Amino acid sequence: MNEAMKPCDHAGCNCQVPVSRDFCSESCRMATESQNVGSACECGHAACQQRS
Ligand SMILES: [Zn+2]
Ligand SMILES: [Zn+2]
Repeated sequence: MNEAMKPCDHAGCNCQVPVSRDFCSESCRMATESQNVGSACECGHAACQQRS
């Protein structure tokens, strides 16, 4: 239960992920690979729910 956490590699994402993972979700991976970093995170996790 000592798994270290780090921020998701998607610049717009507020989620924490295990260090063994790069992204919290496929949506973050795809957004980063498409360099779609200017838009809000669409991973759907509570940490990223933003009022528009
Ligand atoms: Zn997110
Ligand atoms: Zn993420």
